[in-house]
Amino acid sequence: MHDSGWKRVVLKLSGEAFAGDDQLGISPDVVRYVAAAISEAVAKGIQVAVVIGGGNMFRGAQLSQGGMERSRADYMGMLGTVINCLALQDFLERLGIETRVQTAINMSQVAEAYIPRRAIRHLEKGRVVIFGAGLGAPFFSTDTAAAQRALEIGAQAVLKGTQVDGVYDSDPRKNTTAVKFDRLDYNEVLTRGLKVMDATAVSLCMDNGLPIVVFDLMGRGNILRAVQGEKIGTIVCP
Ligand code: UDP
Repeated sequence: MHDSGWKRVVLKLSGEAFAGDDQLGISPDVVRYVAAAISEAVAKGIQVAVVIGGGNMFRGAQLSQGGMERSRADYMGMLGTVINCLALQDFLERLGIETRVQTAINMSQVAEAYIPRRAIRHLEKGRVVIFGAGLGAPFFSTDTAAAQRALEIGAQAVLKGTQVDGVYDSDPRKNTTAVKFDRLDYNEVLTRGLKVMDATAVSLCMDNGLPIVVFDLMGRGNILRAVQGEKIGTIVCP
């Protein structure tokens, strides 16, 4: 399946994970931990691009339930992801890792514009590229952005670091008999409504045969294992 390991990956980090136990804002401990793990992967010669969510800041759908116009709320969500990107950039650079943030919404004072060919060049030079502002379009998610960016820059997998250690047939926090899947195909994810990524993201991966690995972000050594293509969490693949 992926015994030879990946050479270039997109690591998708949920915004919620960045908040740690606080639910809101950024936990420096979490970001430091994630940055250290990414630096180990880079030291092994693996090209790592990162997409970060914004669930610790704003989610457009939630804001619109409170009465905001959906598109504007989504733009707020996208801007929130950039704050997370800058935090990760800071902790990576303290470790001596060269990074570039590229955003789908132009903000030239803080980040480069998203230019896929330039992103690839950065990766080839051993830099970590952090993609911010999702796809730059409302009604999408950062999961979908991770899948799209992975396809466009020729990554071999999307690695989704979350707060659970894989995909289960029901919520393991509510159901003690929940069963974890080692491997799934895309159709099963979609028809059973399994919580991997949203349907748009899963469909995009399915149409292009892009593997998705779901794993526990904060488990010791997990990021390195996932990035190296070791068996971890749940893999969704053709
Ligand atoms: N968002 C968007 N378009 C995109 C990516 C993100 O509109 O291409 C907005 C959307 O409102 C979303 C928010 O940004 O709720 C934060 O992203 P997401 O919910 O994917 O973050 P995560 O759940 O991974 O923390």
